[in-house]
Amino acid sequence: MKGGIDLGGTKVQAVVLDDRSKVVGQAKRSTPTEGGPTDVIAEMAGTIADACVDAGVDSSALTGLGVGSPGAVDGDSGIVTEARNLPGWDEPFPMAAALSELVHCPVRLGNDVQVAVDGEFVLGAGRGSRSLLAVWWGTGVGGGIILDGKPWIGRGAGGEIGHIVIKLGGARCPCGRRGCMEAYAGRAAMETKARKLVKQGKRTNLFRIMKNRERTRLTSGIWYRALDQKDAMAEKLIDRAIAALGAGVASVVNVLDVETVVIGGGLGTRLGEPYVRRIEKAMRPHLFVPERPPNVVPAALGDLSGAIGATLLVPPTLLQ
Ligand SMILES: [Zn+2]
Repeated sequence: MKGGIDLGGTKVQAVVLDDRSKVVGQAKRSTPTEGGPTDVIAEMAGTIADACVDAGVDSSALTGLGVGSPGAVDGDSGIVTEARNLPGWDEPFPMAAALSELVHCPVRLGNDVQVAVDGEFVLGAGRGSRSLLAVWWGTGVGGGIILDGKPWIGRGAGGEIGHIVIKLGGARCPCGRRGCMEAYAGRAAMETKARKLVKQGKRTNLFRIMKNRERTRLTSGIWYRALDQKDAMAEKLIDRAIAALGAGVASVVNVLDVETVVIGGGLGTRLGEPYVRRIEKAMRPHLFVPERPPNVVPAALGDLSGAIGATLLVPPTLLQ
């Protein structure tokens, strides 16, 4: 029995896997928005305890726990620094050691994006492939690369597919630069654009749905609902995002010629298969070798990619 946690800026997702890597329990809690590292770590311990209850096992059954964390993660020392979307995480903090004390089993850390990519590669949509590009379509557009069976992160910052330039001098990206794919396809950038259009007098149901759901941000579920209602602005902004993803993802395929492209992330998972097919179609005119396109598939583990992938950090030697 091993555990996995995907620590995000808004939620903590935990899973318990049996020895054949089957999910036998899962739980979700909100990430604290106040306090500091010890509060976040207490919530993580609580979430994995909930997942053990869901699995019907005692938490002492866990032989190890893997964590996918945001920020700069040092897997060897178990220290997380620069986690800007976690509250009060201004100094380096020994997450692995502190969490291990609460859960009474060894804890291993990895980068949140990379563990999700590994999860899809080993246990999800990338099974059987030698090379893979993962595209996490959510608030931003993250990504990960596996080449010849191994993760490729370059000198540490590889796979940042969201910041591929698709238009010189184009829209302003949340990263501050211009013309990045994320400036058109990231949910945060799409929301900024939608607010701007509303200010110009354009009509949409997006913000009415948001208010009805008592949210302050346009979540993936809100975009899904607006598309379902055939909201013209939502359709236009999603069309624009898909065109951007088509150009950006095809460009990476032209360079790396990967076998499989996995589309996941909050928006990718919520919109699912029909939109993955639309991205595949949008890629076609940009593929240099169109007669041999990659397999373009939705993330098989859905929003559990990160938590399931984190369990792969637990070394097999720790398993009974
Ligand atoms: Zn950018």
